[in-house]
Amino acid sequence: MTSASPLPPELNPPLRTLLGPGPSTVHPRVYQSMMAPILGHLDPDFLKIMDETKDLLRAAFRTQNEHTIAVSGTGSAGMEACVANLIEPGDRAVVCINGYFGERIAEMASRYGAEVVRVEAEWGSIIEPEAVEAALKAGRTKIVAIVHAETSTGILQPLSDIVRLVHAHDALLVLDSVTSLAGCELAVDDWDIDATYSATQKCLSAPPGLAPVTLGPRASAALAARETKVRSWYLDMTLLDNYWGGKRAYHHTAPISMVYALREALRLAMEEGLEARIARHRRNGEALWAGLQAMGLALHAPESYRLPVLTTVRIPEGIDDLKVRRALLYQHSIEIGGGLGPLAGKVWRIGLMGHSSLAENVLAVLQALEQQLAAQGFRLEKGSGVAAADRVLGS
Ligand SMILES: *Cc1c(COP(=O)(O)O)cnc(C)c1O
Repeated sequence: MTSASPLPPELNPPLRTLLGPGPSTVHPRVYQSMMAPILGHLDPDFLKIMDETKDLLRAAFRTQNEHTIAVSGTGSAGMEACVANLIEPGDRAVVCINGYFGERIAEMASRYGAEVVRVEAEWGSIIEPEAVEAALKAGRTKIVAIVHAETSTGILQPLSDIVRLVHAHDALLVLDSVTSLAGCELAVDDWDIDATYSATQKCLSAPPGLAPVTLGPRASAALAARETKVRSWYLDMTLLDNYWGGKRAYHHTAPISMVYALREALRLAMEEGLEARIARHRRNGEALWAGLQAMGLALHAPESYRLPVLTTVRIPEGIDDLKVRRALLYQHSIEIGGGLGPLAGKVWRIGLMGHSSLAENVLAVLQALEQQLAAQGFRLEKGSGVAAADRVLGS
């Protein structure tokens, strides 16, 4: 900055209601935790905080897995950690792709030298077990990767049949639980998930910056049996475990304040209780669906596989996508998401994740949408959306 150009003003971002695909609204107690003093990353008091965070993470994932840590980076860093550690060049990776994030896993797996086999389905459909089985039968497979809650389509993927098939073929199931952890039913041990990664900024409602990862016994054994070094030094789970686990060897400086934030976010989730938290996400999701449908809007995901924490709603004919989203942001201070890939311009994505999943937010976004749709000439019965949502919330 030259002496001639003035300093930018003091930081003063507006207060938004975050109802997009993430980040979600950060809970005040999580903000508060981030103001705590920074400790050294090898300070025994910080190591204790890390241990507590690991225990809380195990509780949230519902696992006893020893290898349970928070990788420095966002959800994609967790994705890359799983891919980098479980793939050796030449390994066959079956990647299920029915949305944006399956595609990202395939891209990462190919960069780590995997032979990628794509199992594809429409954006808005689930992956069928038969399709996975056919791919497994066609060759010796190291991993099968699948997204639990596809934030790009609003689909919640059923897993039990697929997990059984994967293990029957001696492969590892890698699950993207970025949007499902602490918002949807997820039980890593009961469901026999070999590896999964998540993120702090979706249903945990902490800022983006850490990626919880857990590896089960089969994945840990595969890691120990590698013939080649993990190609990513930064994401090498064995090196990371030496820091998060017994040896406490320096690897990289942990993002201290983010660990505080994750710990507090997990404390909040456990205080509420996972079951109650999942029920809250479901109730608010159902209220939103009822409201949108009462306004005459169509939901993109079929009800049986609809994701409560992220709803894809079709943009009606003749409505200007960007104009509505801009008005929501600037007039109502509400953020919702636009469509990705083949759904760009076709759907809006409304997230009700973590501390964003509140009855008042459901009513506020319905009210704001009604106003903006009416302003563009969309015919609807005034107050119908809010009334329908209210009935679900009150029942
Ligand atoms: C958000 C998201 C990711 C990527 O996480 P980043 O934090 O943006 O890196 C991966 N998978 C799913 C399903 C997501 O919703």
